[in-house]
Amino acid sequence: MREYWSPFDFEGYETMINDLKYFKHEEFDSPDLPGSASGMNPEFLKIIDQIRGKCGFPLHINSGFRTKAHNEKVGGKPESAHTLGLACDILVLGSRERFKIIEAALSLGIKRIGIGTTFLHLDMDFSKDQEVVWLYPAGTGG
Ligand SMILES: [Zn+2]
Repeated sequence: MREYWSPFDFEGYETMINDLKYFKHEEFDSPDLPGSASGMNPEFLKIIDQIRGKCGFPLHINSGFRTKAHNEKVGGKPESAHTLGLACDILVLGSRERFKIIEAALSLGIKRIGIGTTFLHLDMDFSKDQEVVWLYPAGTGG
């Protein structure tokens, strides 16, 4: 895992993204910019792919990469890890699914987890606090 990551400059991105077993890169696009999933950190994506493998059930990505404009639109914090390609929100509808995803994320080294009523935010932004789990008020995004 690189400590610093500049979106859009990873030469091996195409090769790496094709290695993902469970996801298409479009699933991580910012909705306002097709192809912007290339701003996702490939190593982070690999970990999300492994979490999916450990869970054994499909994961729907609510939000992956976010352009600054889209991040603002959905009320994300200005320095949101989504804009750095280091976060994703996963749809979660049940407590057993939530448990499984959290268990898999922790086992794979995820140290920042946000819990919403219908989603989980996972991120690997090392510029922010590590070993934290926080809550989102009902009805808000992550
Ligand atoms: Zn999020």
